[in-house]
Amino acid sequence: MAGTFEKIKQAYKLFKSIDFEKLDKLSRKVDLQKVMDGFSKLDDSQLKGLMKMMDGGQKKKELPEINGDFYELHLRLSEEDRAVQLKVREFMEKEIKPLVNNYWLHDDFPHEIIPKFAELNLCGVTYKGYGCPGKSFLMEGIIAMEMARIDSSIATFFGVQSGLAMGSIYMCGSEEQKQEWLPKMQQMQVIGAFGLTEPEVGSGAAGGLTVTAKRTAGGWVLNGQKKWIGNAPFADVTIIWARDTDDGQVKGFLVRKGTPGFNVEKIKGKMALRIVQNGLITLTDCVVEKKDRLQNANSFKDTARVLQMTRAGVAWMAVGCARGAYENALDYTRKRKQFGKPIASFQLIQNHLVEMLSNLTAMQSLVFRLSELQDQGLLRDEHASLAKVFCSLRTRDIVSKAREVMGGNGILLEYDVARFVADAEAIYSYEGTKEINSLIVGRAITGFSAFV
Ligand SMILES: Cc1cc2nc3c(=O)[nH]c(=O)nc-3n(C[C@H](O)[C@H](O)[C@H](O)COP(=O)(O)OP(=O)(O)OC[C@H]3O[C@@H](n4cnc5c(N)ncnc54)[C@H](O)[C@@H]3O)c2cc1C
Repeated sequence: MAGTFEKIKQAYKLFKSIDFEKLDKLSRKVDLQKVMDGFSKLDDSQLKGLMKMMDGGQKKKELPEINGDFYELHLRLSEEDRAVQLKVREFMEKEIKPLVNNYWLHDDFPHEIIPKFAELNLCGVTYKGYGCPGKSFLMEGIIAMEMARIDSSIATFFGVQSGLAMGSIYMCGSEEQKQEWLPKMQQMQVIGAFGLTEPEVGSGAAGGLTVTAKRTAGGWVLNGQKKWIGNAPFADVTIIWARDTDDGQVKGFLVRKGTPGFNVEKIKGKMALRIVQNGLITLTDCVVEKKDRLQNANSFKDTARVLQMTRAGVAWMAVGCARGAYENALDYTRKRKQFGKPIASFQLIQNHLVEMLSNLTAMQSLVFRLSELQDQGLLRDEHASLAKVFCSLRTRDIVSKAREVMGGNGILLEYDVARFVADAEAIYSYEGTKEINSLIVGRAITGFSAFV
């Protein structure tokens, strides 16, 4: 009885799986009765062989998933943090990826994304209070990587807002200043910028700043120029680091958009991070009220505290840039055919891909540990500098190999690798060049300072 039921069940299943439309089309091409008669004469093994042949012909070769996280580091995240990572990934893939090539080409910023960006509720990732998420530095790093995996400009915009600008206020502002600015910046209702570099002073900012701040009865008067300041052309508030003419110390000032004597000119003609809007700021007798001096920024040491915190994030950004290029290039090599085969099946192409993945995996393991140190309060300048040097150097290598395995299409924006190649150049230089970060590590390991 049970056997009969089984047969009925199988027959029912078979009947349900019949595509009658296809059957009808087939019957117009061949004599179905003849085909069925032919089949009935086949023995079991012949029938199995025939089914196998038909299956083999239909089945596409299953390729492994493209995954730049080869050592599955995401397994070390809590469920909650993994959910944030996937939320950022989805946002970047759905909302940002379709826009970036066009904005990059036109050297423009997609302002329309800001409300959706704000909904992610990510700004001020690690800060406690003021509406900020209060998450770990590891989470902050993962977010930077996920953003840069799709676009390094958007990751930089976020890094300036959430890290450099909000971080300066969080670490160096009075309670009143934090209350005034951080909740609005967290919601992205206020966009911030961070002005340290000058036209004639880049690497030597620690001792060389020339922008002056002169104390007056009601506040301060700022004079001089700042160059390369990200978000500055449209920022609502810019942190200006300037030297106090009285005591020679570097101090921080919150300069509001539209302040007389504060002029921003957009820097044009960049070949990297073209979506980031960088400004050349000219301060001409720019008056800042007493209350807008960052109350707890009293020397360059305070500026350096902010930079140490954000430098780790830049190393993660380099990882994201490398990961995006690697994953896109791998995808391309599996689809692109030459000599009748996918180029991914060639030994020399696989060699490039494996070299890229080795470096990428080493970088990810390194920044993961870097953030753990930061979360444990053990991060030193040289830790962050080593990660910045290693990751930005290896990223340059990975993006150039990604471009190489794509042949001519590697230099076309639409193939989603060319942008990474160009952007890696800016990541390589900002927040401390390779030389400056190497000098920081060199001093720490030898005990001798080679700074000039
Ligand atoms: C896209 C982009 C965005 C940026 N955003 C911001 C921002 O938002 N805010 C901000 O304040 N700044 C920003 N910067 C500035 C950035 O931090 C500087 O470009 C960087 O610090 C290097 O300074 P520099 O360009 O003046 O180069 P320089 O300091 O002139 O260096 C030129 C070369 O000399 C080398 N060098 C310098 N000193 C030494 C030494 N002692 N020993 C050995 N070699 C040395 C450097 O390593 C480099 O290779 C941005 C830059 C870029 C490109």
